[in-house]
Amino acid sequence: MDHLHRSLLNTYTAQPLDRSAHGRKDPDWLAAQLANTQAEYLILNGHSIVTVNRAPLILSHDQFHALDSSFNPMLLGLKKTDNTPVFLVNITEPEEGLSALFQPILDSINNKNSVDEVIIESLSLWDVTREIDSDMASMYSYAILLNHWHITTRFCTRCGSALEIKEGGSVQQCTHEECSHIEYPRINPAAIMRITKDNKILLARQESWPEHMYSVLAGFVEVGETFEQAVEREVLEEVNIVVKNINYHSSQPWPFPNSLMLGYTAEACSFEFELEQDDIEDAMWLSAEEIKVKIKEGSLFPSTSFSISRTLIDDWFQEQTGTSIEAFKSSLAK
Ligand SMILES: [Zn+2]
Repeated sequence: MDHLHRSLLNTYTAQPLDRSAHGRKDPDWLAAQLANTQAEYLILNGHSIVTVNRAPLILSHDQFHALDSSFNPMLLGLKKTDNTPVFLVNITEPEEGLSALFQPILDSINNKNSVDEVIIESLSLWDVTREIDSDMASMYSYAILLNHWHITTRFCTRCGSALEIKEGGSVQQCTHEECSHIEYPRINPAAIMRITKDNKILLARQESWPEHMYSVLAGFVEVGETFEQAVEREVLEEVNIVVKNINYHSSQPWPFPNSLMLGYTAEACSFEFELEQDDIEDAMWLSAEEIKVKIKEGSLFPSTSFSISRTLIDDWFQEQTGTSIEAFKSSLAK
């Protein structure tokens, strides 16, 4: 399997939208997308998704224009299946709550879902990822990453003047005439690495994590280093282990809030380790059989199922046991 397809096995990678890089530079083309009555509007409240009974709220053209507000939609792209324009709308929640904002269209939402009680609330992508399909998860990941950049990038980094949204939101430009600097979305690249030796894997946890949650090691790439050097440095810094045979595995956009995870595998030169106490609370070497025992007794949760951390652990677990962690868990439930 090549790396494109291996990465496509990670959550948030489905990419159902064509970003229309050329089209969006043309204001007339953009205006036509905004006028398209088939267009869909994803509603974000900062880093959260506005949901109705836990389903992401996606407004139609008419519903969006019926709202009593002047939100500025940004074009995420066109659906690859039928060219439907999909916009991102970042709302400001009124003091009276979300229901007040969506009051003008509450009836149409109600009919669509045909349930008695309509609960409109903001939920994190973390909380709804398992409940939505892969296209939707990818679309919201992209929307949140883009929105994070807009929320946190308000002024020109060169002269401090206000910025103006251009090309439907994929860039911002400085409004100071003599500057006109163009800002592009920023993400934080991070390396995440599965460290193994013989038939064991190294899992670690941070104090702030849910109880019994363990993951592979990870860290941000620093200025002036390669991803592979980041892997080598992070492992040395966090557990004081020297690694060899560093290889690329796959990547995953990680919108919590703005990372791109680059997954690697590496071999430890020794089992002995020393914890960097500020970062890592605990670490342990485990065989697949020991992982099974710990999962069974409820003393180990190996990363959240939609993370590249889990994929890295799971690939190794499959090699060792011929089955996935999820399948093993299911067999326990029977
Ligand atoms: Zn400027």
